[in-house]
Amino acid sequence: MTKKIAIHWFRQDLRLSDNPALTKAAEHEAVLPIYILDDDNAGNHVMGGASRWWLHHSLKALNASLGNKLSVYHGNPQTILDDLLTRFDVEAVYWNRCYEPWRIHRDTLIKENLKTRGIEAYTFNGLLLWEPWTIKKDDGTPYKVFTPFFRKGCLNAEQPRSPLSTPKNTNYGDDPGHIGIDALDLLPKIPWDKQLEPHWDIGEEGARKRFETFVDEGLSFYKEGRNLPAKPYVSRLSPHLHFGEISANQLWHTVRSLGDDKHIGHFCSELGWREFSYSQLYHNPELPRRNLQSKFDAFPWVDNAENLRAWQRGQTGIPMVDAGMRELWQTGYMHNRVRMIVGSFLVKNLQLHWHHGERWFWDTLIDADLANNSASWQWVAGCGADAAPYFRIFNPVTQGQKFDPDGEYVRQYIPEIASLPNKYLFNPWEAPELILTEAGIELGSTYPRPVVDLKQSRESALIAFQSLKKGES
Ligand code: FAD
Repeated sequence: MTKKIAIHWFRQDLRLSDNPALTKAAEHEAVLPIYILDDDNAGNHVMGGASRWWLHHSLKALNASLGNKLSVYHGNPQTILDDLLTRFDVEAVYWNRCYEPWRIHRDTLIKENLKTRGIEAYTFNGLLLWEPWTIKKDDGTPYKVFTPFFRKGCLNAEQPRSPLSTPKNTNYGDDPGHIGIDALDLLPKIPWDKQLEPHWDIGEEGARKRFETFVDEGLSFYKEGRNLPAKPYVSRLSPHLHFGEISANQLWHTVRSLGDDKHIGHFCSELGWREFSYSQLYHNPELPRRNLQSKFDAFPWVDNAENLRAWQRGQTGIPMVDAGMRELWQTGYMHNRVRMIVGSFLVKNLQLHWHHGERWFWDTLIDADLANNSASWQWVAGCGADAAPYFRIFNPVTQGQKFDPDGEYVRQYIPEIASLPNKYLFNPWEAPELILTEAGIELGSTYPRPVVDLKQSRESALIAFQSLKKGES
């Protein structure tokens, strides 16, 4: 490329439609679209294994829709941009904003550096419905409770912009010096990702199709149906949203154009929870590590590597927990209801620190997202903003009976206990020996005995919580 160019720096906006920064960059004579894998600045939140797998395929899809013009780099963006500025006649750099504290810090420095070199950096909101700094209470402080955040803050703020169409006739160029997607080495060394593949259609086109399927088949059951892990009533758009293959804006405007019933309202409020997570992270950059309620700093967490491993592998002997952990391992995703069940089991029944759960999810979820993951783990542990109170401990047996009444979900992920009648499917340790034998189960051999007693561990968690309250007074 010899002419003057604009750089569009793709980050969590791996799409061409409704991409505000790309739309503006496309007004220039020519655009150099780039992606930089930055493992240098991410600190202890370098992208996890499942996310890398997704990213590999998402970049391939994006590159195809750019006519193979995506230039790809690995390293420190500051250095890489500096190099591009020496080799190309760059007029301006465009990107959509990210909100992880390390990215905000890095991008601020890059913007300053570009400015000192006489190059303008134009940044846009391509990820969220509302910028986190715009939704505040009347006294100027951030909301700490979801309902007023969403109802009073978001819904009374300016409506999210209408989605933009894909820029037309853009003159994309590439950098002959870029390394290419394969050189990022994003795929896992052991072929664990093969099992994930059949579940996902990665990229902008796949995201659009999944959204259409959800609108046709899931949306009109969403409000109640979203609690049933065996049913197709949730969108499963979270990884597509995380990588920006579809925008929250596109979802918001499309579903609202379809009417105003309880299902649409509820779906929009879940998008609101995503906004709330980002608001919490923006206003509390320590969210991924530090308890928002500091009284939890004194919580007597237990250290037990064996129980942690049983939890990670879906071998706790508690079927609803194991089904969730195996869904995660086999598909890279876990249904929200089950995330809450496995989370509660980890931090309450096993009394293991929520950081263990946050880390495991970070590495194994394809939708691993610093804001949503940290805020949700704090919520589950009871130490976050507007969190589930610590003393509300999910019972994985009754949760299973209520939300997987026919046992479809548990049978799918734990085939070794599939022949049990529903009555004992969620609590095989209570089944008479004869029923276990008939179902071909030997507890402790074909399927584990529970790693903890649910009742005793619940009581022990409540005592630990009480000690916290005493310490407070
Ligand atoms: P749908 O029900 O179809 O909802 C649509 C979208 O709304 C989702 O894609 C998501 O972007 C947003 N959303 C829905 N529920 C929530 C929620 N409770 N909090 C925030 N946003 C929500 N979500 C992530 O995207 N990344 C994570 O790393 C993550 N970690 C979690 C960890 C725990 C312990 C828990 C309890 C929840 C976590 N969530 C996370 C939130 C939620 O479970 C997922 O967003 C949801 O299950 C994604 O499925 P879906 O796309 O089918 O959701």
